[in-house]
Parts: sequence; structure tokens; C-alpha cells
Amino acid sequence: MAQIDLKDGVVGVVGAGTMGIGVAETAARAGHRVFLFDVSESAAQTALSALADRLDGRVARGKIARDDADAILSRLTCAPALDALAPCALIVEAVVEDLKIKQDLFSSLERLAGPDAILASNTSSISITAIARPLEKPGRVAGLHFFNPAPVMKLVEVVPGLQTTQATVRTLLGLCAHWEKVGVQAKSVPGFIVNRVARPFYAEGFLALEQGVAAPAQIDALIEKSAGFRMGPLALADLIGHDVNAAVAQGVFDACNGHTRFRPSLAQQELVAAGRLGRKSGCGIYRYDGAGDPQTPPAPSLSPPPPPAAQIAAMAVRFSPAPTGAALWCRDALRKAGHAPETDRDLAPGQWALAGGVVSPNAGRSALALSTEIDKPCIVHDWAHDPGGSRLLGFSASTPDMEQAFLALLSAVGVEGVVLKDRPGLIALRTIAMIVNAACDAARDEVAREDDIDRAMRFGVNYPRGPFEWADLIGPAFLTRALSSIAEETGDPIYLPSEYLRRRAALSGARM
Ligand code: NAD
Repeated sequence: MAQIDLKDGVVGVVGAGTMGIGVAETAARAGHRVFLFDVSESAAQTALSALADRLDGRVARGKIARDDADAILSRLTCAPALDALAPCALIVEAVVEDLKIKQDLFSSLERLAGPDAILASNTSSISITAIARPLEKPGRVAGLHFFNPAPVMKLVEVVPGLQTTQATVRTLLGLCAHWEKVGVQAKSVPGFIVNRVARPFYAEGFLALEQGVAAPAQIDALIEKSAGFRMGPLALADLIGHDVNAAVAQGVFDACNGHTRFRPSLAQQELVAAGRLGRKSGCGIYRYDGAGDPQTPPAPSLSPPPPPAAQIAAMAVRFSPAPTGAALWCRDALRKAGHAPETDRDLAPGQWALAGGVVSPNAGRSALALSTEIDKPCIVHDWAHDPGGSRLLGFSASTPDMEQAFLALLSAVGVEGVVLKDRPGLIALRTIAMIVNAACDAARDEVAREDDIDRAMRFGVNYPRGPFEWADLIGPAFLTRALSSIAEETGDPIYLPSEYLRRRAALSGARM
């Protein structure tokens, strides 16, 4: 089958639930005539009425012209029976996540569709190869995985099964471009790209919660402000629903034969067992009132007022002659605030010294481990993409005196210090390093190309950077060392650096 242009083709959508109606709207917006079929005729009608209401709302808010909204609706028709989809050039399946139901449906679609029609599945986790297995011509079956809400989210993963033809893949990638989506080709592996590479984002948030590293609102705030994500993992899992999020985690874990890298969170399973599903049930990690608005989460504790200048002077704060990262920013902020920190040639560029101890950037070791090695009290501060701008810095201390001194120093420069339980990797660096690690495993397994993995994470889940962009920013050698340190100190093999990350570090010529 040659690559075809689906631009003017009729589109069929089977399943009028959350995703089906979103895909139908996307196709209708792009100018296609669309037939929507659901086993429950009332479900299809209800979905169309709800879409009409949403479009009315957008017209009222001036987001879309009345004529355009009417044109979208005029292109959408509820199909009375599956056979009505016979003229479609593309049929997208978005029914329940059940292999047998999907296989039966695709067998019916193969019988009724024209010989050149493409049959696509929006499955999140089922093997495309398995869905296409009963068909006589599996070459025209592929995954077309949209993200919720489909009309808004840019990413579509185009997933060939083992027997899918290249022409089918090229046709679907071309269609994504026509629909103004970011189409990315992904191998048919559990979780494809996004649901696989995103696992550590949630897993690390839940682990930090389980281990009491900080309060939930502090964990979320650090991921948002220090790491630059739009939403922290705990608030996001509350929004997605813990039942849905845990099912994806469990699905990827099971499909990967229990590979420990994909270990689901026990804390999240407890939430599901308790019926605390998140926003939709009124309570998850946070509580939500009847209107669905989150109650204001407890704010991270406020920094004390800036300490007197004499207290800062008594700390004898010192920096290396050429400080970098948070040290550079802190030195300049202290100078601006009228203090005069000293220079110390013995300090590494990222380190600084105060109150007889050393402050070190997070390199995957706990403050206690570092302190034991250098025989001095230590602070380890977490990674921050913009230490000055974020105004929030997580850190752990090897002694209570160092903790108090560092909190005072941070408040002198207008930054809120968040005291974290001392553990290797803290929160922001550990989360980012594990996302990079998962992306490296995915690249090693040829799930997708590096640039496609980056695009998938930016456009599928709105990450501020793609994992390989982070790897380049922070440095593959640094991340390799940090992950090795976390693995060594925790004794947990999930933190061992991916061999792909090690290779990347070696190829960059850096010392590991
Ligand atoms: P949903 O439960 O909201 O809707 C499923 C619809 O399919 C229902 O209306 C049901 O009546 C209908 N249906 C069931 N069996 C059918 C059949 N044999 N023929 C016709 N209609 C049938 O489900 P959803 O959340 O829209 O998910 C649909 C698919 O999309 C699943 O494969 C899911 O994994 C995938 N997906 C979901 C999301 C998400 O965030 N919800 C995101 C990406 C992909």
C-alpha cells in the first residue's frame, strides 16, 4: 500500500468517551467529515451535545467565531451502526482498554472498510501488534495515541506494530502535520514514549512522600520552582486521578515483566485502596472542596526575617574565586544586600563555606555522606534551573547548626530555604536524573530517536525541557556520577545509570 493523503478523507471514530469525542473534534476542526460511533447510541449523542455546549462556551468567551463552531458541528455525525463507517479513509478506535474487545472491533472494521483505509488505535498500553494479529492485512493498522484533552494537547504518538507498513506510518505522520499536531514515531513497547519516560516523575514524587522528605506541598513547590515543571507530581496525580495513574504504572510494570525500573508506588496504591482518587473524589493527596477547587495547600514554611548583618558577618561566608551556579548567584546577592563575603582559593567553584562548614551543590550524595568524607559539617542544596529566580531552594544539612545557619543566609538574600530530610539526590536532581535515565533506556531500546523523545515529553506532558536537553544542560557525566552515588548510598539498583547515559558521557569526552 502506497502512502496516501488523508487530507480530504472521511474520518470514523469508534468510542465516544473522553478520547473519542476529542479525536472527533480534532478531525472536524481540520475540515474532515466525521462519523462517530459508540456501542451506546446515547453515549455518542451525549458526547456531541456536550461538545456543542463547550463550543457555545468558547463562542461566548470570544475564543472561536460562531460560524467556525457551527462548521465543526456540521461535520460531525453520530453513526447509527458500525457499517456507516464504510466510506472512511481513516478509522480511529477509542473504545475501552481491552485487547479482546479491540481485536473483535478491528476484525469488523477490516471487513467493512475500503481496501486503502487506515485503521488506527488510540490505545495507551496494548500492543499494536497484538491488536492487529487477527487481521488479514495488519499492515494498515497502527497506533495513533492522542493525549487528553485531544484537541488541546499537541503530541500524537504514531506507533507501528511489527507488521505495520512504512506507508501507513508516513501517512499518519503526514496527517498529524495537517492536523497541526506534533507526530512522533514510537515503537510498540509498553507505555510507548511518554507513559514510559514519565514514570519516574510520579514515582520519585511518591517516594519522597513515603520517605517524609518534605511535606507534599513542599515537594510539589520544589518540582515546580526549582525544576521548572508546570505542576508538581503529587498535584498532577491528584488531577489525573490515582486510579488512572496507578493503572498506567501497573500496566507498564506488568508489561515489562516486572522490571524494577517501573516499580509502582505503594503510597499511591494505598490512596486508591482508600478511595482517595484525587480531585474527582474530593480528596487525594490534597483535599478539595465541593466545587472541585483545591483547598489552599499548606504553604512551605516562611523564611524568618533577614538576620542582622552582624550575624551574617559572624558566619564568615566564603566563595571560590570563580563561583558557579547557586554559589555565584548567592555571592552576588549577598554583595547586593551589602555584605562582603570573602574569597577562598581552596573551595571548588560550586561550593561555598559558612559557619565552619561547607555548602555543596547536589551531586547525588547526602549531606551526612559528604560530611563524613571531608570531616566537616555540610549542607547539600538541590539543583535549581534558576536559583535566583525560583526564590525557593531545597537543602539538607548534616547538623542542626548548619541547617539554621544556611536558613539564615538564604533569608538574607530573599530565598526561602526548604529543609529536606537528608537523602542522596534530594528531590529536584533525583527526579530529573531519573527522567533522563528512563529516556536513555528508551533510546537504547530504540523506542524513539532522542529528538523525538524530547518532543514527546515537551508536547505530550508539557515538560519544560526534553530529557536529552536536560542531559546536555546538566551534563551526562555529572548525571552518571550522581545516579551512581544515589544507587550506592541507597543500595537500590533502580538508580544505576543507564548504559546509554554512560555511553553518552563517554562520547562527550568527560571524565566519569
Ligand atoms: P471511555 O471509557 O471514556 O470511553 C470508551 C467508550 O467506548 C465508551 O463510550 C464505550 O461505550 C465505548 N465502547 C466500548 N466498547 C465499544 C465497542 N466495542 N464499540 C464501540 N464503542 C465501544 O475511555 P477513554 O478514556 O476515552 O479511552 C479510550 C481509549 O483511549 C482507551 O484505549 C484508552 O487507553 C485510550 N486513552 C485514554 C486516555 C485518557 O486520558 N482517558 C488518553 C490516551 C489514550
